[in-house]
Amino acid sequence: MTIHRQTPLAESLSLSRQFGKDIHLKMEAAQPTGSFKARGVGHACTEHRNRGARRFVSSSGGNAGLAVAYAGRRLGVPVVVVVPNTTSERAKAMIGLEQAEVVVHGSSWAEANERALSMLSPTDAFIHPFDDPLLWTGHATLVDELAEQGGKPDAVILSVGGGGLLCGVAEGLDRNGWGDVPIVAVETRGAESFARAVAADHPVTLAGIDSIATSLGAKTVCVRALEVARSRRIESVVVSDAEAVEACLRLMDDHRVVVEPACGASLAALGRSRIVSESSGRIVVVVCGGVGASAEDLFRWRAGFA
Ligand SMILES: *Cc1c(COP(=O)(O)O)cnc(C)c1O
Repeated sequence: MTIHRQTPLAESLSLSRQFGKDIHLKMEAAQPTGSFKARGVGHACTEHRNRGARRFVSSSGGNAGLAVAYAGRRLGVPVVVVVPNTTSERAKAMIGLEQAEVVVHGSSWAEANERALSMLSPTDAFIHPFDDPLLWTGHATLVDELAEQGGKPDAVILSVGGGGLLCGVAEGLDRNGWGDVPIVAVETRGAESFARAVAADHPVTLAGIDSIATSLGAKTVCVRALEVARSRRIESVVVSDAEAVEACLRLMDDHRVVVEPACGASLAALGRSRIVSESSGRIVVVVCGGVGASAEDLFRWRAGFA
């Protein structure tokens, strides 16, 4: 049994026309729980269950925690998600709907995470949101599907939070013999921990996160993300929150899908990437999804930027 499902690769005629390129969208918003997290989290949870884990513990109130809750329900393994008191009622309710136990502790993710780690017994498995090779191997299935859905892309565009998706897509490209395919790695301004790390060539920790794209809000990317950046062709692109929201609304109209600004960022990068502007082949954008923003949130943000 796999926890994730195969997602469509949709041709975007409207984006292709606008940018004069051949643009395809890998629709991870169609995953159970609405984001690509189902892939890596599903794989990690399945492995841990097979090794005897009796409970999954997460400290993410976002898409990762939701994916752990879903995977636990599907695998018949209890889940506890520890979140800070800043987590929205809506997010807690969604995790609760998946039958996971939600524990509220502390006023920051760091405090919630500390509590989660302190709860771990030897038969528990802690599921990290981005820094775990099991996760990356699961995310890599996204590229395996591309191989069946029309073949080698000319470039892949994806968003970077802690760098788990980046590491997974790089692994997937390598294991399909596509190590030469360049990756456009996108963040929003105020959450650009990867861009800063690449520029400095060592891990950089942001003092704080100043972006509405909360799913990109890892203050430090994983060490592996920097290794990936050193070992292949990667272009780091930073877009504004306003551009990310605009791209979300455009996707909503064109493809009837609501996603977070964390995902809109990758679509917004189509107009900002040198790799895209120089490409003559097929561009694949990973529409990573996310359930943390409603259509109303998107409209409200747009009005705020105007
Ligand atoms: C988790 C997530 C990201 C960032 O992924 P990382 O693996 O942390 O880089 C981007 N977008 C959405 C919707 C996410 O859920």
